[in-house]
Amino acid sequence: MHGLMMDMPLLTSSILRHAARHFGDVQVVSRRLEGDIHRYTYRDQERRARQLASAFERAGVVQGDRIATLAWNGYRHMELYYAVGGMGAVIHTINPRLHPEQIAWIANHAQDSYLAFDVSFLPIVEAIAPLCPGIKGFIAMIDEAQQPDSRLSLMNYERFLASGRSDWQWPQLDERSAVGLCYTSGTTGNPKGALYSHRSSVLHAYGAALPDAMNCSARDAILPVVPMFHVNAWGIPYTAPLVGAKLVFPGAQLDGKSLYELFEAEKVTYSAGVPTVWLGLLAHVQSNQLRFSSFTRTVIGGSACPPAMIKTFREQFGVDVIHAWGMTELSPLGTLSRLQNKHLDAPAQIQQKLLEKQGHVIFGVDMKIVDDAGVELPWDGTTYGNLLVRGPWVIREYFKGDGGNPLVNDEQGQGWFPTGDVATIDSDGFMQITDRSKDVIKSGGEWISTIDLENLAMAHPAVANAAVIGVAHPKWDERPLLVVVSKPGMQVTREELIAFYEGKIAKWWTPDDVQFVEAIPLGATGKILKTRLREQFRDYRLPGA
Ligand code: AMP
Repeated sequence: MHGLMMDMPLLTSSILRHAARHFGDVQVVSRRLEGDIHRYTYRDQERRARQLASAFERAGVVQGDRIATLAWNGYRHMELYYAVGGMGAVIHTINPRLHPEQIAWIANHAQDSYLAFDVSFLPIVEAIAPLCPGIKGFIAMIDEAQQPDSRLSLMNYERFLASGRSDWQWPQLDERSAVGLCYTSGTTGNPKGALYSHRSSVLHAYGAALPDAMNCSARDAILPVVPMFHVNAWGIPYTAPLVGAKLVFPGAQLDGKSLYELFEAEKVTYSAGVPTVWLGLLAHVQSNQLRFSSFTRTVIGGSACPPAMIKTFREQFGVDVIHAWGMTELSPLGTLSRLQNKHLDAPAQIQQKLLEKQGHVIFGVDMKIVDDAGVELPWDGTTYGNLLVRGPWVIREYFKGDGGNPLVNDEQGQGWFPTGDVATIDSDGFMQITDRSKDVIKSGGEWISTIDLENLAMAHPAVANAAVIGVAHPKWDERPLLVVVSKPGMQVTREELIAFYEGKIAKWWTPDDVQFVEAIPLGATGKILKTRLREQFRDYRLPGA
């Protein structure tokens, strides 16, 4: 017997329509490349998104077509999300920090028909245009008066939008149709596309908003530092209008000072980003002895959040850190670390340890750890294994079937997505990542977690950034090497850093050596590029090895 409730498809357009109807005067604020702060409401945004969709329709875009963006976080980028997805086409957000050749490869693979871009990326657009004959138009996302000169014949976003009809209405679509496309960073082999559906994006937005997930509400002013070209800014452009939160977009200025000023001016309560961006913000507020007047919570994820950062935010600034784990293939949210009822009376140290973990799944996602033979491992908080996940916003297959079937089936024939991460799960279901499986150090047949060693090093007052890699060792196969960037004006020696580990970890985990560098190579999404670091230290020999 079927239930007798309405069968309304879950569509992203309904999120923005909801915001326009029920939170019509809530503001969307953007720092623009034009140099000013732009301000309008969800009501304005929904109207412009419909008009933009109509313009694309008039330009011949049909359902399923891919429209690419190379853009910062801003209101026009968000209009594109809704216009393109809402009309049944696919918004393909490209990471501008990739090499132009890789960008061209991705745009050709996706068969993008238009590309909208912030004018700071014009050099990339000019470089890739000859390589991407399939792109019919390059749309500069800027006021018409400031349209840049170019050897390409560029379209202008505002002029293009004005060619659409403002009475155009959102179509009813199959909720399983595609809405967005993001490519994985492709550190090994070519990038692969994760193709999100309306259904998966709306369910993810609901899940993300929950109090024990990102905990977003109509009382929040949310500033996503995480870029809209990195897994849809973790879904915030969908979650914020779903709950009616004010949105504040930082544009291209992601340095500590610019962020701090925007946080204060717009009374931002809530933010989200990878650990590396918070290093800049914390350095700015600490060195200028500033306080946050409204900022109380932030989600940190994308790579392991150093415990020292959680502590600093909490103890010095009263900002709660919600440590999150996810990946492009998960839309991206999988787990977040929030205390439960039974932890509330636990000593502060135990609470801190829980908050350092990557946390608990959101309903919708299930996870398990398995050994190399696929046998499920116990949830005891110490046994580590390969992390597998399943759920309605987890990838089933890459775009165009690239790489074949990624899933592994269990005994009941259910498919699980292997994340490539190695993790423990404790008896309360708190997951902790020990490593990316390709980064874990194998010493004498035992595993050493590079994340643990990096987190400890980051707690040293003179360390600005730290990374640990395995280097070849004749006896142990691999041993850990600590690579450190020291804080400006501060001195620290190899011996001090090695002594700093004493009593905090098993002795055999201690790095064999420390190397000081000017900077640690970061990938396009702000994560430490261990492949590059390993290359950099290819000829390095450990002392005594
Ligand atoms: P991406 O698809 O580029 O977002 O990368 C996903 C990968 O980032 C995951 O598979 C993890 O290896 C890593 N990652 C994401 N969040 C965390 C976290 N909180 N702690 C440790 N690693 C993380």
